[in-house]
Amino acid sequence: MYWKSADFIMEQDPDLAIIPVGSIEQHGPHLPVMTDWAIGTEVGKRIQALTGGFLLPALPISTCREQMGKKGSVWMEPPTFYQMMTDIIMSLKTQGFRKIMIIQAHGGIFVMTPIVRDLNAKFNPDLMVFNFDLMTVGPVCYREGILEDDQEIHAGESESSQMLVIAPESVDMDKAVDFVPDTPRSYLSYGSILRFCPDGVWGRASLGTAEKGEQVLERAARLGVVEMNKAFEFMENKGKLNYSNF
Ligand SMILES: [Zn+2]
Repeated sequence: MYWKSADFIMEQDPDLAIIPVGSIEQHGPHLPVMTDWAIGTEVGKRIQALTGGFLLPALPISTCREQMGKKGSVWMEPPTFYQMMTDIIMSLKTQGFRKIMIIQAHGGIFVMTPIVRDLNAKFNPDLMVFNFDLMTVGPVCYREGILEDDQEIHAGESESSQMLVIAPESVDMDKAVDFVPDTPRSYLSYGSILRFCPDGVWGRASLGTAEKGEQVLERAARLGVVEMNKAFEFMENKGKLNYSNF
């Protein structure tokens, strides 16, 4: 809704604000560094259409130290990101937004949990913050037969498919790599992803198609709305626990 005037937004008076968060980072040899930002932008537009919420432009830069090793990945310090997100959400609260949906389009924002938890602990039920982590979409699409691979962490079948819908001119499927390391994801705290996945792909990128991409995007938007409504209902109805609203 960032393409509308403030008067229009006043008139609609939504109580939901939607903040997609992407990243600028390496996505293998076949996908552009804008991948997470582009997917966050697209899922944000689709969720806006389903909810009528106040959509903010996707934030392009977050935290992605785990992508170090090639040029083109850009990050900030986690405390900076924590403060920035808190400031943005508090500015929305001041204007009467009660519900905040973050769309986390980059898996490596490990500081997102304390942001969401701290704001909810301080302000529920006057302010409720829900984080829709797009990493949760892949397993659902795999179970429902939309995706064939359940090993994707980064730049694999799902992200390649979505980018073939959003910006096909930026994708070079001739360079798509399939690679799944036998390293647990927790090792991203001990070294760059490029230590385990030399091409920067953790998944099976060659399985990507635009048909799957459209289905994943559509499923992501619907899943996000359902999960958001469940979480807000829980936060709204939990009542007091002794001295605590959390
Ligand atoms: Zn990504």
